[in-house]
Order: sequence, then structure tokens, then C-alpha cells
Amino acid sequence: MADFPVAELDGRTPLEVANTPAMDEVAALGICALFNPIPEGLPPGSDIGNLSVFGYNPRATYTGRAPLEAARRGILLAENEVAFRCNLVTLADGLMQSFTAGHITTEEATQLIHALNEALAELPIRFSPGVSYRHLGIITAGQVSVDDLASVFCTPPHNITDQKYEPHLPEGPAGKLLCAVIERSADVFRGHPVNQAREASGKPPATHAWLWGQGRSPIMEPFHERFGIRGAVVSAVDLVNGIGVCAGLEVLEVPGATGYLDTNYAGKVAAALDALDRVDFAYVHVEAPDETAHEGRLDLKLQAIEDFDAKIVAPCLEYAKERGDVRILVAPDHVTALSTKTHAGGAVPFALCGPGIVPDAAVSYSERAAQDSGLLFPDGHEMLPCVIQSARIGAGAILT
Ligand SMILES: [Zn+2]
Repeated sequence: MADFPVAELDGRTPLEVANTPAMDEVAALGICALFNPIPEGLPPGSDIGNLSVFGYNPRATYTGRAPLEAARRGILLAENEVAFRCNLVTLADGLMQSFTAGHITTEEATQLIHALNEALAELPIRFSPGVSYRHLGIITAGQVSVDDLASVFCTPPHNITDQKYEPHLPEGPAGKLLCAVIERSADVFRGHPVNQAREASGKPPATHAWLWGQGRSPIMEPFHERFGIRGAVVSAVDLVNGIGVCAGLEVLEVPGATGYLDTNYAGKVAAALDALDRVDFAYVHVEAPDETAHEGRLDLKLQAIEDFDAKIVAPCLEYAKERGDVRILVAPDHVTALSTKTHAGGAVPFALCGPGIVPDAAVSYSERAAQDSGLLFPDGHEMLPCVIQSARIGAGAILT
């Protein structure tokens, strides 16, 4: 949701312009202030940002994107294993022509991944099929050490669309092994019936398996040990659910959760509020404001924010008022700027209300209102512990 001032909006941000009565009420009943979810020097992504919002220090916890996705799929890494994200891609004429292999179907991709596992049986890698172009490759250390595997330099394929791929092949002591896997995948995929059929119908073939985003098993203290309460998470995004798995949270399944404007908002809220009969903390993640900002669509981002306000925050606020013992925290995991269509670091606004929260002067939820508060969590992962601990001891002004 968070963004920079937009010229078309007379220098206001989407949050300032969008009609958000529920979030404004959260801020008016409580406080609106800043926290920084992306530690200095780390890439501004959903993995780092969400870890911070969950109250975990990304510097101490984060090992890579793939292990979190692996956890979501029930794959627990051994000490000597490193998980890589494996994209099916289209490399042609020396260029990364498609980082999705033309959005290959899951059915097609599964056949290719099985063929890879058979053909590369003598290499220390096993592939786990996922959805569409998104798969995992788990490498067991042996001739190449775990440290070398974990530190090999890999490039996310979505960063080099239409660019020469050769300069971006894996580099470092483990680079040779990874390049061998990528090269061998080309032999397996070339002439495979799946690709023959794709080419016959004018679709790009999956020419290679591209490895990136690797890491060892993340080191996360279980949420209930860290905070003394149990929790649940609802999200359409594997990465966020993977953090939930690693933190020992209950991962709620909601049919029709798409990660876009057409997501099942009501289903997500119902699942979260239902979980609050069993646990003390529910994390509802909505992706649409981010996706629409990546598209550079001001109109859609405003809609995504207003939908979030009306369909998520408003029913939660109503529930909180009825129960009387619930705190609500509204927060983005990073800036996604319409101007650049990508993420940015820096502080973002949060709003918090509920029992024991002493209201500040804020009457609305926005970047500007948060700045005016003068309150900032420079280490963003310290915000949630503060919110939870002050609730447990029944303290009032947590932030004086
Ligand atoms: Zn994003």
C-alpha cells in the first residue's frame, strides 16, 4: 500500500487519496506511526519485509527465498541440503526470453520436472514440482560444500528479461555444478514431447531449468515460544505461508485466494476470525496493492487499497469492537512504488488500535500522518513484539 507522492495526485500518495474509512478509524482510535521493515543493505522484498512484520529480525533469520517456499510444501531441509528456486525458462538467441517459459501449465511442467529427475539421477540434486514455472531443486552437499552452495551467486531470472543470460549464470565455487545442471536440463528438454507440442501450437518451449534464490533451512524460533501466544496466517502467497510454517503458525487454506484484485476477501476474513477462537494472533496478508503497483496502474492500486479497507479492515474492526479485547494492526511489508513499478526500502506507516493503546493526534492512516507522529521503529521487527508484549501485560502507553 505504501508509496511515494504521485504527481497526478497533486503530490499526495495513493493512501492519502483512497477512500479508507476503516483504516482511518483504526488510526483515530489509536495511533499512526512509522516502522522500517527492510534493514539497511538488504533487498526490499516480500520475504524480508514480511519477516519484519512477523517480528523476526531478517538479518538473523533470512537464508533465502527457496527454503521458505520449500517449508510451505512440507520439505524440511537437512543440515547438508540447500534449496534453490528452479524456474522453467525460455533461453533463445543468447537472451532470457521468458522467465516463465510462457507461463507453462503445471501439467506440462510436472512432466518436464519428472524427466529431469530421471535424467540427472547421478547429480546431487532432486527437483520438486510446483505450480506453473515455479519449482524447487534441493542439492545435497558432497564434493561441493554447503557453504559454497549457499553462497553461490545467482540471478533472479525476472531481473534479466530480454537481456543476455550468459553473464548471469551462477558464479562461485558451486557455479560449475549449477551450470552443469542448467546445461543438462537443456538436453533433457530439447525435443521433449511437451516442448514439441508447445512449439507446434506457437508457444515458447521451456528450454532450461534456471536455479536461483537459494538458502539453507531458516533459523526461526517458533512464534509461540518467542511471544507466548499461538497464531495463524492466511495468504495466497507461498512465501508468506512458508514463513508461517517455519514459525509454527497455523496456515489457513482459503479457496479462491489469488493474490490479486479478484481474491476471496470474505473467505480470508472468515478464516482469520474463525481462527481467533483457537489462537490469539491472526495475520491476514493481501497482495493486490503490491501487484497493481508493479503494473504501474494508479487506478487499480487505489481500488486495491479501498477493497482492502472495506473488505478486510472494516469487518475486522467490527469484530474487534464486538469482542472488546482485540487489537488491530494495519501495516505494509514494504513500499511498492507506482513511479518505478518496483519495491523500495525505507519506513512505511502502520496504524494500531485496541485496548490499552493511548490515542495520538492521528485522524487518518497515511504516510504523512505517520511522519507527523514523530514515532519510528528503525528496526521494524521490533514493532510486533512491542504490540504483543504490551498487550499481554495490559500496559497502556506502549510508545511513550
Ligand atoms: Zn511485489
